[in-house]
Amino acid sequence: MLKFERVKIKSEDPEDRVKTFDIEPVIGYTDNEAYAEGSRCIGCNICTQACPASLDIGGYVNSTAVHDPGQTVKIVFENLPFPAIIGRVCTHLCEDICVLYDTGGPIAIRHIKRYAADKFQDYSEVIHLPKKKFIGKTVAIIGGGPSGLSAAYYLSIQGVKVTLYEALPVLGGFMRVGIPKYRLPHDVIEKEVGFITSQGVDVYLNTKIGQDVQFEEILKSYDAVYLGIGNHKPRMTGTPGSDAQNIMHATEFLRRTSLGENINVGKNVVVIGGGFTANDASRTSIRLGAENVYIMYRRRDVDRPGYPSMNADEEMEETMEEKVTYVWEVTPFEYAKEGDRIVEVKYWQNDMVPEGRGRAKPVPKKDKILSVNVDFVIEATGQESDYSFLGDQYMRMLKLTPQGQTITDQNGMTSIPGVFSGGDSTNFSRDLISAVRDADTAVLGILKYLNVMDQVNEEVLPFLDRWKKFSPMSAKMAYAERQK
Ligand SMILES: Cc1cc2nc3c(=O)[nH]c(=O)nc-3n(C[C@H](O)[C@H](O)[C@H](O)COP(=O)(O)OP(=O)(O)OC[C@H]3O[C@@H](n4cnc5c(N)ncnc54)[C@H](O)[C@@H]3O)c2cc1C
Ligand code: SF4
Repeated sequence: MLKFERVKIKSEDPEDRVKTFDIEPVIGYTDNEAYAEGSRCIGCNICTQACPASLDIGGYVNSTAVHDPGQTVKIVFENLPFPAIIGRVCTHLCEDICVLYDTGGPIAIRHIKRYAADKFQDYSEVIHLPKKKFIGKTVAIIGGGPSGLSAAYYLSIQGVKVTLYEALPVLGGFMRVGIPKYRLPHDVIEKEVGFITSQGVDVYLNTKIGQDVQFEEILKSYDAVYLGIGNHKPRMTGTPGSDAQNIMHATEFLRRTSLGENINVGKNVVVIGGGFTANDASRTSIRLGAENVYIMYRRRDVDRPGYPSMNADEEMEETMEEKVTYVWEVTPFEYAKEGDRIVEVKYWQNDMVPEGRGRAKPVPKKDKILSVNVDFVIEATGQESDYSFLGDQYMRMLKLTPQGQTITDQNGMTSIPGVFSGGDSTNFSRDLISAVRDADTAVLGILKYLNVMDQVNEEVLPFLDRWKKFSPMSAKMAYAERQK
């Protein structure tokens, strides 16, 4: 039986890192650490089953173990053009299912990927793409997040002419304007996005479809369209007092900070919510100078979004190291104001009432009012997709789930012929790797729809399901079992 331990990853001191946005919490592996960690892998590839993008994980971990990080990068690029980004912020469910979990710890798959990707400043040193020729088809991509960018990459390298429209002044979507740069440095994003656009993608920034260019015009001008529009319409709670000046939705707060604004949050900040976004908003507040930051969530810690997973535990650990306080099982019911500013968040403690097989239901105990003083309130209470750019005619044609997700067929095509979709607006996982998976599916779907499969270069087509079919629940079940 293998007994040797996972090579520990080193971290920066929380006291230093909270002073700046420029220190990543995790310090990457050295050469020897990466080789040693890689060589623990037995290559069973069970982990692939938990990877939405179906990466050949055993293959690329082994390449690093034999001192060939270039091959690691090449294997990742088969399905995913963001090894350094995903190597930092992936939800890494593959590790939750790794067979070595109880034998020294799961292989540090994410850190190995980051190590290999960071070895190359320019991927053209290792990714040698076959010469392409224009195959006579054009595709418009709406949205420059990971999903739109992945689709742009895999279509472009097949010789499709891709034009990408992005409403913001920067590419990257939530990688660039959601995830703060202490977790995902901007130069890392620029390197990977730059490699994608250098494949001949025409990019229009500051161009909102539905406003600057009409959707109908796009439909007429291109042979197919990919929607990678994400979820950018904030959902606010509407708690009394929400009309104050010192409250903001977390995505606006993180976007403005990522684009360089220095928002004055004061000393005391309350963040409402419990997922990725709440944690990032709280840690961003600390870096902006807040001294007391509370994350208020209406359910128990085990009910928080993303749990059970190693990623959710690591995220909470890092947040607590930075002295953020979690306040579980509470219902904020009033933002008490002085003038146009919130000065106090009033809340009730909840009882958690079991409900069949579902999550326990929070029921506020209204007999006792609790409160906390506050200078700034951030609501990380979710967001939804904004389909208004489609106009009435196409909006009526687009089939959505009751939760507002775009419904697609097995090829990624929506109910509007020739319009494909993926990413946060379409899947329920709402993470980067699933956004990439959707793009991989749609790339194959688009090539089939365009009737050009006889012209494609199979060597650079993304794989969908490799040896084991992707199972979204497999990792969660494995992790939950291990916590018992
Ligand atoms: C704060 C935060 C932290 C996160 N942390 C993680 C993490 O650690 N790990 C992880 O895996 N996932 C994380 N996620 C989730 C992840 O970022 C998303 O799942 C992923 O970015 C979704 O990709 P996407 O391409 O579908 O959409 P997005 O990244 O949202 O990109 C969509 C793009 O479309 C553009 N757009 C929308 N409408 C139009 C239009 N009409 N015209 C032109 N452009 C348009 C938007 O401006 C945006 O740039 C996080 C999300 C947030 C908000
Ligand atoms: S499950 Fe673990 S040991 Fe097996 S291939 Fe994946 S990383 Fe290696």
